[in-house]
Amino acid sequence: MDIPAITDMDVAGQRLLVRADLNVPMAEGRVTDATRITRFAAGMKPLLKKGARLVILTHFGRPKGKVVPAMSVEPLVIALSNAMGVEVKFCPASSGPEAEAAAKALKDGEALLCENVRFDAREEANDSGLGALFARLGDIYVNDAFSTAHRAHASTEAVAHLMPSAAGPLMMEEISALTKALEAPQSPAIAIVGGAKVSTKIAVLKNLVQKLDGVVIGGGMANTFLYADGAPMGASLHEPDQVETVAEIRRLAESHNCDLFLPTDVAAASEFKAGASMSLVPADKCPGDQMILDAGPQSVERFKTALEGAKTILWNGPLGAFEIPPFDKGTNELAKKAAQLTRNGSAVSVAGGGDTVSALIHAGVKDDFTYVSSAGGAFLEWLEGRTLPGIAALMRAEIAA
Ligand code: AMP
Repeated sequence: MDIPAITDMDVAGQRLLVRADLNVPMAEGRVTDATRITRFAAGMKPLLKKGARLVILTHFGRPKGKVVPAMSVEPLVIALSNAMGVEVKFCPASSGPEAEAAAKALKDGEALLCENVRFDAREEANDSGLGALFARLGDIYVNDAFSTAHRAHASTEAVAHLMPSAAGPLMMEEISALTKALEAPQSPAIAIVGGAKVSTKIAVLKNLVQKLDGVVIGGGMANTFLYADGAPMGASLHEPDQVETVAEIRRLAESHNCDLFLPTDVAAASEFKAGASMSLVPADKCPGDQMILDAGPQSVERFKTALEGAKTILWNGPLGAFEIPPFDKGTNELAKKAAQLTRNGSAVSVAGGGDTVSALIHAGVKDDFTYVSSAGGAFLEWLEGRTLPGIAALMRAEIAA
């Protein structure tokens, strides 16, 4: 993908207007998980060393266009300063004269954090007037927030058209991992798509079956596939209105030579509850008073075999109700297999979206994957094959340059 990277540019003395995602978890005014800050800072430090001046914009929470003091980003300054190794200044505005003066006063190697961009209703409206005000804060726009790239907002889209633009280090890392896994994957490439409902992942499934060699389908959405084949569902989560969607996905898979792997045995229980008594039954024999909550051991073995020869593994969504043991077994075992193949060097594995990160942490293998994206919505939209507006704006910027 032809996107200019800020790391390839001469940044000495330049004011970089950096859109970050510093939407970190906080409790009582303190950052409780600084992972996002640490990763962002690691990419920014070399730029500061080269003499860049950083003006940082981020969103935080959902203040819905109003000033909500509890969602100020000022409490992030200490964690950000520690992570960047410089004293980060704070500006209580994100655009306008005060922000412009603060940005102008920066010296080489200094950084400024501006107030929550979502305090201004024009941000989420992708207002070009606000984009123009942002553009006055820097010389080069740098988007380092993949997780918000699926949103066309003033600080992720409008501004990119108004000044020279580039992708930041984290954005580049994410784009290159996802490109490797989906746009130009090494074959055989297999996806594991689980989670609750087919209806939330129709576009994902349709796109993946056209691009990859195989898709393992798990979770509640596998139930809908089984139901479409005539299997009784008992009390299982399934979507009868998606039967035609399932047929369409199957047709697409067949015409693109993509193998679909579905459970042939399942773990079922009468309650969705920890310690509920569980039975293993064939996938087409779910008892009337029970619900399917995980793939069974034979299915997991088949899925593992399908992964064996894969060079690329893409994962979104758990194979079962992983939050409640023992229904985490299928997810855990398959995740461990993917991790082992990655460690061996035989496969590149990329995972992300929604509950997937928690499922891989739960399985204890998150760090073994080649790349785990923490971007929920943006990751899913990428899997759907959509062009994310925040990324498209960076590409257009290069074409125009
Ligand atoms: P998603 O956000 O679509 O990836 O869905 C994740 C959720 O799907 C998790 O909370 C799982 O507990 C849930 N899930 C997975 N398999 C099943 C199943 N067989 N029945 C009910 N919920 C499931």
